[in-house]
Amino acid sequence: MSIDPFSWIDEIAETRARQGLTRRLIAIRPGAPGRVEQDGRPLLNFSSNDYLGLAGDPRLVEAAGRAAGRFGWGSGASPLVSGWTEAHRELAEAIADFEGAEAVALFPTGYAANLGTIAALVGPGDAVYGDRLNHSSLIQGVRLSGARLRVYPHGDTDRLASVLARDQGRFRRILIATDGVFSMDGDLAPLPELVALADRVGAMLLVDEAHGTGVFGDDGRGSASALGVADRVPIRLGTLSKALGSLGGFVAGSRRLVDHLINHAPTLVYSTAMPAAAAAAAGEALRISREEPWRRERVHEIGRRLRSRLRAEGFAIPDSEGPIVPVILGEAAEACEAAAFLRESGLLVPAIRPPTVPRGEARLRISLTAALEDDAIDRLVEVMRGIREDRGRGDRRSDPE
Ligand SMILES: *Cc1c(COP(=O)(O)O)cnc(C)c1O
Repeated sequence: MSIDPFSWIDEIAETRARQGLTRRLIAIRPGAPGRVEQDGRPLLNFSSNDYLGLAGDPRLVEAAGRAAGRFGWGSGASPLVSGWTEAHRELAEAIADFEGAEAVALFPTGYAANLGTIAALVGPGDAVYGDRLNHSSLIQGVRLSGARLRVYPHGDTDRLASVLARDQGRFRRILIATDGVFSMDGDLAPLPELVALADRVGAMLLVDEAHGTGVFGDDGRGSASALGVADRVPIRLGTLSKALGSLGGFVAGSRRLVDHLINHAPTLVYSTAMPAAAAAAAGEALRISREEPWRRERVHEIGRRLRSRLRAEGFAIPDSEGPIVPVILGEAAEACEAAAFLRESGLLVPAIRPPTVPRGEARLRISLTAALEDDAIDRLVEVMRGIREDRGRGDRRSDPE
């Protein structure tokens, strides 16, 4: 009898199922703006990072089509070999202009941008200081690099300062890396304090603007711009896959930084360049996002309205602004029940469970886009009221009297 070398997978699957943590892929089909179909059911979509409502915009589709006609679909090679087309160069120049940066490096995805950038900047003998709620790609980047990871409590720059002081002289290079807008909470990092700390200790500073680009700051330049420190963040990393409705990642910074990344970031050097069509679509999105500021204004406005209405219904909504509205429910099962109820009611809102968020902080992550209409927000509040009333009844049932 042979031994099944994969039996451990079943054990993990059973544990996961017992804890209510199993996740599955469910295919969707995009509908009208702000809507999707799942298993043939129309749903209002509160789960997309397409914050400006551009991913399905006919102008992006057309720009992609034109570029595909000229350059073909696949880019065929990594950027240093022959995957870098004029469409890539144009996009890199447009982003550099937008960011007010000397140069921009492009990566296949935002995730790859974080992995490759961190691995190119630090290694064994170096240290990276990261916020506890940093995105997975920042954490994995540190692992890939072989540098030491120091995690500080969320937003706690005093703690970071004391750890930096204690570590003084211990590491060769140091990098402070943070989400600009935290992906599961929607709040902004304390960037003015982080900039000052980085200056004081001579650390490199990387801000991941995945949820900031296009949404926050002057002209949509991101959270560093919103907090008035864009020109003091030397490594500004972003994605083309969220507000810009396409696919890809970028790093904006000095010419010497970008030249270093082009030569040393493994996810740039050894990975095929994004399709020229994706670059062209992102460039078109960048142009539209600047010409149509109402998209950014709309998503902030409905965010404010939704937060205040859900708080009035008694929900725990952390302090944040913009399109990410978390509703903290507690246990994974509660978040899943709420998401299932929303889905039954025609609304797609994801339940976010550990390990994506800390234990006991399972939540609904409502994500808003400029494509959502007022009716959709009203409907969401109405269904959430039903959930709150149901939870209220549950509490009474568990009351000993
Ligand atoms: C989504 C996300 C990324 C990864 O970007 P992709 O382009 O989707 O790979 C990186 N950082 C943060 C904070 C994100 O939320």
